[in-house]
Amino acid sequence: MKLSVSDVEVKGKKVLLRVDFNVPLSGGQVVDDTRIRAVLPTITDLLERGARLILVSHLGRPRGEVQPELRLDPVADRLSELLGQPVPKLDQVVGPEVQEAVNNLANGEALMLENVRFEKGEEENDPDFARQLAQTADLFVNDAFGTAHRAHASTAGVAAYIPAVAGLLMIKEIETLSRCLEQPARPLVAILGGAKVSDKLKVIHRFLKLADTLLIGGGMANTFLAALDYPLGDSFYEQDLLIDAKNILEASDRSNCCLQLPVDLAVTRELKPQSSFKIVPVGEVAEGWKAVDIGPETAAIYGKVAAEAGTILWNGPLGVFETAPFHRGTEAVARAVAKSEGFSIVGGGDIVAALESFGLAGQISFISTGGGATLKFWEGETLPGIAVLQDKQIKEE
Ligand code: ADP
Ligand code: MG
Repeated sequence: MKLSVSDVEVKGKKVLLRVDFNVPLSGGQVVDDTRIRAVLPTITDLLERGARLILVSHLGRPRGEVQPELRLDPVADRLSELLGQPVPKLDQVVGPEVQEAVNNLANGEALMLENVRFEKGEEENDPDFARQLAQTADLFVNDAFGTAHRAHASTAGVAAYIPAVAGLLMIKEIETLSRCLEQPARPLVAILGGAKVSDKLKVIHRFLKLADTLLIGGGMANTFLAALDYPLGDSFYEQDLLIDAKNILEASDRSNCCLQLPVDLAVTRELKPQSSFKIVPVGEVAEGWKAVDIGPETAAIYGKVAAEAGTILWNGPLGVFETAPFHRGTEAVARAVAKSEGFSIVGGGDIVAALESFGLAGQISFISTGGGATLKFWEGETLPGIAVLQDKQIKEE
């Protein structure tokens, strides 16, 4: 168990809080503030307990250079509104201006540093840069679960210089994800979709060991069907992953996990909104046609498995949900997951966007704020941004 920020005294302390405020912007405005809201409990707790708060986040991929459109001003504005308290944003990440602003912070006040990825040292996890960042503070709190799979200066490097503990969101993510892997209510059902098998090889192997059923859809399913020598016409699949897919199918024969592939598919000649399509059984995808969604029979089978699940872990949409009507397979299964009495966890940018577009996000037991981080966690990897945090000492009776 990791030491939580609630376990430490923070009054008067300068606290460097790493958050994941990598939010979508449009016209200089935050268009979705979910990630900001997710960290509010930690921020409010720290401010109420009299911490002097230094917020640090990345936004987009500026690759070590200042990109004016990726400045954090709109994010600081939105946070100030949500908190009902001003959060000034500095134009630097480190340096004398930052030091001075931090020294002027009163207990219970916050400021935000500039986009940490404007600095080359961030993604390189440069020790000098990490030390400069750490120097401004007495305590490091990591609440950026979505970035915890990266060993960057502001997610891991700083912990070499100041004590490091987990934020409340981080604790919630770790506890919920761990519980569902270590002591899941059974049956444990994993649903994996998305475009590529290559992104998810490790997690597939791990789920073959842990899950009772693994349901596969999306472009990834095409690669498995191709490995079984089904014709796929012009469908997307990964030619160079056929051997891996065969190995997975063999491993599933030896495992206690039941791996299920689609039995029918929605196929179209051209992938565009409202293009005509037909439903065919697997094995009947003709030349010139692309499989872009699971079919209704598959959706019904997967839905029934979800309805009877004790725990559901889902990453990746089951079809090209961005292009109607090829969202239908994902939506049908999502409705079953939403209704299921099983505990459901969903992680991944696209699948979460899909659930939101169906209006079902509120009916999922836990929406992880990680995409890549959640997958790494499910793979069983130790995430660098978690590894550096202090462990909780178990007190002797
Ligand atoms: P997540 O963000 O939930 O982890 P991924 O990024 O792995 O999911 O995959 C999402 C992408 O997979 C979407 O852009 C979707 O269009 C694509 N996809 C799903 N099914 C297919 C398919 N049959 N053919 C091609 N692309 C697909
Ligand atoms: Mg994605």
